[in-house]
Amino acid sequence: MIRVKSGGSYVTIEDFSDLEARPRFIGKIDPKDKDLEDVIGYYILPNDIQCGLTSCRTKHKKGYVAVTKDGIETNIGHKCGKKHFGLDFDTKQRAMRAAVTKQIRQETVLEFQFSSHDMQEEVYTLLNRPLGAKLIHKLNSEIIMRSRGWPEYLSSEVSKMVRNRDGRITEYKLATERDQDLLIASGVKEENAKLVRNELGELASIEALFPENNLKELLISGLAVRLAELDNIEVLALDGIELKKWYDWCNDAPRLLERAITALNLGLIFHSPENLALLKLLPAKSIDKKQLSTKLAAHEKYWNKLATK
Ligand SMILES: [Zn+2]
Repeated sequence: MIRVKSGGSYVTIEDFSDLEARPRFIGKIDPKDKDLEDVIGYYILPNDIQCGLTSCRTKHKKGYVAVTKDGIETNIGHKCGKKHFGLDFDTKQRAMRAAVTKQIRQETVLEFQFSSHDMQEEVYTLLNRPLGAKLIHKLNSEIIMRSRGWPEYLSSEVSKMVRNRDGRITEYKLATERDQDLLIASGVKEENAKLVRNELGELASIEALFPENNLKELLISGLAVRLAELDNIEVLALDGIELKKWYDWCNDAPRLLERAITALNLGLIFHSPENLALLKLLPAKSIDKKQLSTKLAAHEKYWNKLATK
């Protein structure tokens, strides 16, 4: 791969022969006759090529494109660069690389900006469709914040499951003599064999409530807000720091969208009435159980209505 300045910007070319074909390129110059002026490109090639200076002709795969004071281009290695440009060489080659990096970043952000409309539409649909991310985010918050009719005990139980990152619903019962014998026989110490753990069921997709699957952060602050901002920025006027920030974001955005879709799908499974019905397995006082049944019935009605939209 070769990157070399062509007019005001850098172009990428694959073969060394394409560099040799440039009108001002000479593959063999005598540094006694020519003064090198600037570094205008670099290359990493699969095969060895020779240094363009007649005094050197060393073979290498990595090197630079230099230009002389009278506008002739040639290729040189790092050592010749240092020898003929002196200390200036590192400054010049770093400036050239920084300019290439800046150009690549600008191109990436501009291309993303140009085609961002599709992603904008997708994000909008994911957020606003009947069983979309806005609704799922609201339902996630309600269950944790014990609002909209969720009984208090249930919110604490679900929060505990989220903290433990485990959706299993378990109960502990006093061990019968037979249970104790079995536990002890399986290696449990006698003092720990008083209770038996009983798995009653497992809530699917409890991950929907994990902090990393926060749909508001993923889809709204992570994507929708940034996409709207991106629409209005003047990419070529961004300073280095802002440009890097947007370049990183553009590279990250498709992955962020994937994560948001995964999080939304987890939420759709978690909040499905069949899955939430498992919450009835949690031990609770009868008054709380009654409140839960009322809440679940209302949820099911609401959910089914949205599902047919
Ligand atoms: Zn050389």
